[in-house]
Amino acid sequence: MKSRALPAVLALLLLAGCSAAPQEATAELTPNPVQTQQDSLSPSPTPSETPTPKELSLMATGDVLLHPQLLAEAKTSTGYDFQPLLNGLKPYVQDADVALCNLETPIGVPPYSGYPTFSVPAQIVADLASIGYDGCTTATNHTVDIGTAGVKRTLDTLEKYKLFATGSYRTQTEAQAPPLLQAEGIKLGVIASTYSLNGMRADTDWRVDTGVDAKKLITRAKAARKSGAEIVVAAIHDGTEYSTRPSDAQRKLGQTLAESGAFDFIYMHHTHSVLPIEKHEGTWIVYGLGNSVAKHATPTILNREGISIKATFTRTGKDQWKVGELVWVPHQLSSSPVRWCQVFTADACLPAADAKASLVRTSKTVNAYGAFDDGLKPWELD
Ligand SMILES: [Zn+2]
Repeated sequence: MKSRALPAVLALLLLAGCSAAPQEATAELTPNPVQTQQDSLSPSPTPSETPTPKELSLMATGDVLLHPQLLAEAKTSTGYDFQPLLNGLKPYVQDADVALCNLETPIGVPPYSGYPTFSVPAQIVADLASIGYDGCTTATNHTVDIGTAGVKRTLDTLEKYKLFATGSYRTQTEAQAPPLLQAEGIKLGVIASTYSLNGMRADTDWRVDTGVDAKKLITRAKAARKSGAEIVVAAIHDGTEYSTRPSDAQRKLGQTLAESGAFDFIYMHHTHSVLPIEKHEGTWIVYGLGNSVAKHATPTILNREGISIKATFTRTGKDQWKVGELVWVPHQLSSSPVRWCQVFTADACLPAADAKASLVRTSKTVNAYGAFDDGLKPWELD
């Protein structure tokens, strides 16, 4: 989420300590929270005076996969602090109107655990929210690692920190509600799904959006649009781990979704490696964002690398949007302590030679289907 300066009057009120009860305390929580615009401070707002935004930017990042080493590094005397790990991401998150993460590992209670049955502390959600994320998708092959209780605890935690969530559900009503994230007055539909639950079964078929059947995904996208989504994106957890190309089935899925016209943008994660970006029949497909934060038991250069993207949607007509610009930033996770480090420019986060090699390798993969010629640009911060 873009950080915005407080209006002067509000800032003064807050400084003087004479504001009413904090909004956090009174805001009503809804199952999949959407932001509302009810707190306008303008003297006499009328709907007709509200300018209609012509653009909306969406940042998408890869897997938040908390392996045990990340917990050990984040441990403090009172709990956990993941801010140092996430700090490099923060300026990018704050440069987009909406930022979505993919929360791969369910929130648990101590003792926490790693692969194959992940259980991680709630503090990660608090820290993702505090750097500016607006929500997370939760349909992954680890969603039911710690059962239905883990699904519910994860969604309770996301709700507590006012983050939008879709991909898994606490109730059937929640599962049937349109997956709409409201930002800047625009409704964004997010269609999430995971290829698998690692051989486990959810207690009921609506608990997790599972399966990568193009027809079903297109039907869901059309339903979201009918329910008011102006922009619809696919956030799919799929692919072959540690590869540098999408599987044939994955590429076919991406292209079929693009050809359907039901999606304005398609992105995927899961492989713990970066995959190419492709513009297919006018629609961008990001096949693999790689890891956002992780520390695999067997670290390889591929599972330490990832990309983050920002898609800027531009209004082209009534309720019609296209990605006007797609930008990307490649990153690598440093070894110890683990930190999220961008690799476009050398800085203290990584040895310069590592950053340079990472940039070369990731650029080659991302551009395998001609993305640079099709307009993919580096993400430059102001
Ligand atoms: Zn996965």
